[in-house]
Amino acid sequence: QPDVLQRVKETIERENIKFINLQFTDIIGMVKSVTIPVSQFEDCVEHGKWFDGSSIEGFARIAESDMLLVPDLETFRVIPWERGENAGARIICWVREPNGSEFPGDPRAALKRVVEEAKALGYDFMTGPELEFFLFKLSDLEKTEVLPHDKGGYFDLTTDLAYDVRKDMVNALEDIGIKVETSHHEVAPGQHEIDFQYDAAIPTADAAVTLKYTLKAIAERHGLHCTFMPKPIYGVNGSGMHTHQSLFKDGENAFADPSDTYGLSKIAKHFIAGQLAHARAMIAVLAPTVNSYKRLVPGYEAPVYLSWARVNRSALIRVPKVSKGQLKATRVELRCPDPSANPYLAFAVMLKAGLDGIKRELEPPDPVEENLYLFDEHMLAKHGVGTLPGSLGEAIEELKKDEVIQDALGEHIYERFIEAKQIEWEEYSKYVTKWEIDRYLPIY
Ligand code: GLU
Ligand code: MG
Ligand code: MG
Repeated sequence: QPDVLQRVKETIERENIKFINLQFTDIIGMVKSVTIPVSQFEDCVEHGKWFDGSSIEGFARIAESDMLLVPDLETFRVIPWERGENAGARIICWVREPNGSEFPGDPRAALKRVVEEAKALGYDFMTGPELEFFLFKLSDLEKTEVLPHDKGGYFDLTTDLAYDVRKDMVNALEDIGIKVETSHHEVAPGQHEIDFQYDAAIPTADAAVTLKYTLKAIAERHGLHCTFMPKPIYGVNGSGMHTHQSLFKDGENAFADPSDTYGLSKIAKHFIAGQLAHARAMIAVLAPTVNSYKRLVPGYEAPVYLSWARVNRSALIRVPKVSKGQLKATRVELRCPDPSANPYLAFAVMLKAGLDGIKRELEPPDPVEENLYLFDEHMLAKHGVGTLPGSLGEAIEELKKDEVIQDALGEHIYERFIEAKQIEWEEYSKYVTKWEIDRYLPIY
């Protein structure tokens, strides 16, 4: 990568960078980083950087604690809010084992493996995630009843603080190399969304991770807390990470077929069928928290039913309309992921499920355009529409049965993921909540 290296060196010089964060994520998607002074940069490019991985979630046991971080220079970015005397930059790294081989617990490497599997079939996986989030006043966080700080609704032009904060967020994102397309107020009070340009799955997952910490940093400067928790407030919409997906072959969109009613090729239909077939298991990765399942309930534009459609916001997979000259934009939107998911693992399982549909030439059921929230059990059965698991516990059980999705994670990640999630679920199951106290204490 001599050209990239040259460019990075020039930027370091020009921006007077003093520190570089070597960044990676753990299995649950938390960003980890090791900071090096810029004097270590050349050595790091040449030899990588050793770190002790023993206490990183799902990374390694004590006995195999030393891990090597190998910087992916393409991901070098100046951190906009760290400009100044101690200017900082970040580089996303591959994680290697002491013997130099790919560390099987690196989520980015898991995505790379599935991306390469698609590539072997001739496909490039493109994704465009829509991350929704809430802004809360920092001072409200210790209260049980957190209050969003504005009263806006979907696409409302609010003139309050949130509008300015969003502009600062967009500037910071552009500054860190994310091509923002739109930003808007979402349906719930205090809820927003900022969308960026779609790209290949790995850079997009990098961008999703980057977007999350960028927005948190900017919000904090305004005395606000930005949260990607899927359902922070009872009774209003939760936050999703809908993901638009397509496969490209030789630079052309392999999902596009203008002669089809939905504009979709056979490949796209198999892909949809594959995702529907594996949805009940992959949801454990796409909606990985106890709280995620409080979003996936009828009535809040989040999916519950295993179906696909064009305009239906209650469907799991939606096919956005594209205009005639825009075949490249043909895509399918998977609506069940939420932003608490690890984007690397999320894209890995989504692609794996779609590829399985392609390999086995699965056919999707007929699309259902009616509002599924209004269907009763009889209607659902008549249309052959199944449902997503209702809880993290149920999702874990489904994942345990699905070898295709397990394979997307790889044995190492799969085992640690299940272990961590099982503990989370059991802990929650035993916990006595405020709801129970409010409901039962006065009457029993
Ligand atoms: N907030 C909704 C969700 O939880 C999505 C709203 C929308 O369609 O943008 O998925
Ligand atoms: Mg939205
Ligand atoms: Mg959407």
